Amino acid sequence: MRKLKKVVEIGKVKIGGNNPIVVQSMTKTKTRDIKKTIIQIKRLQKAGCDMVRMAVVNKDDAISLRRIKKSVSIPIIADIHFDYRLALKAIDAGVDKIRINPGNIGENWKVTEVIKKAKDNCVPIRIGVNSGSLPKSILKKYRHPTPDAIVESMKDAINIFINNRFNNIVISAKGADVRDTIFVYKMLSKQFNYPLHIGITEAGLPFRGGIKSAVGLGILLNQGIGDTIRVSLTSDPVMEVVAAYEILNSLGLRQHGPIFISCPTCGRCEVNLARIARTVESRLKKYKSFMKVAVMGCVVNGPGEAREADFGIACGKGVGIVFAKGKEIRRAKEAKLVDILFEVIDENINN
Ligand code: SF4
Repeated sequence: MRKLKKVVEIGKVKIGGNNPIVVQSMTKTKTRDIKKTIIQIKRLQKAGCDMVRMAVVNKDDAISLRRIKKSVSIPIIADIHFDYRLALKAIDAGVDKIRINPGNIGENWKVTEVIKKAKDNCVPIRIGVNSGSLPKSILKKYRHPTPDAIVESMKDAINIFINNRFNNIVISAKGADVRDTIFVYKMLSKQFNYPLHIGITEAGLPFRGGIKSAVGLGILLNQGIGDTIRVSLTSDPVMEVVAAYEILNSLGLRQHGPIFISCPTCGRCEVNLARIARTVESRLKKYKSFMKVAVMGCVVNGPGEAREADFGIACGKGVGIVFAKGKEIRRAKEAKLVDILFEVIDENINN
């Protein structure tokens, strides 16, 4: 059961309440390279990214945000560390949200300046506390960035916002340790009504990072915790969006693009199923419609799974049957099966 949080509007996108879980990513270009940044944002948008964050590390980055904002249609978020003046400039440039980590912005008056500006311009703020940048006083008390230390740091940060009567906030406390991160988010969800941006930070390269993220985010989302997600991967950011939807589709929380099933194969398989599966998965990339496609190796589970999916192939010895919506459509030799499957998909869906 989803834990319903306050709704925060980021441009046209709503986070929290009963709204769909929002998928975010982050550009990996220098933000001041406006052309490259816009191209990357448009690729992310095409992949289904709902909103995008970019690093603002200097004045040139902050100034570039105005042109970037005019050229893209998904909300943009400025990611600010250390220098509160960059946050003020980003708001002036018209960003839809800013993300700050009060732990590294410095004295409270600097955070307060950012809050005032955000309030005047109706710009929401994500408070992103990180285990790697907790205030010295908290580290002294807990010695290490333990989950309790992170939650206390978040409480302190939120208090600055409450004292300034600002509640247009989203909170996050991502960590690289999956179990600690789950623990922290459970505590935050219990204690606060603000929408939660969840993720496993610095998760790694796509294979390991995807698994770590799926474990961490999957457990949280399945307990109703999390309103917006990012899968942080050392890769092209489009992979982050693909992975995010794979997680959300698996849990039935969003319906975006195809769900692909293929059997692991075993000694019963009499076709090159791995090649068939790779080709089908690759050709499915251009489809946006939500559909279940199954590719199965033999008669044991093949016809059953292929029938249950929207579209499927169940193989036999060098041959197979293509199914659509539970019905057997055509029998064909192995070499022809993939083309027939896609002919059938194209006849049945509007992509
Ligand atoms: S569907 Fe057939 S080939 Fe595939 S794993 Fe099951 S028994 Fe083996």
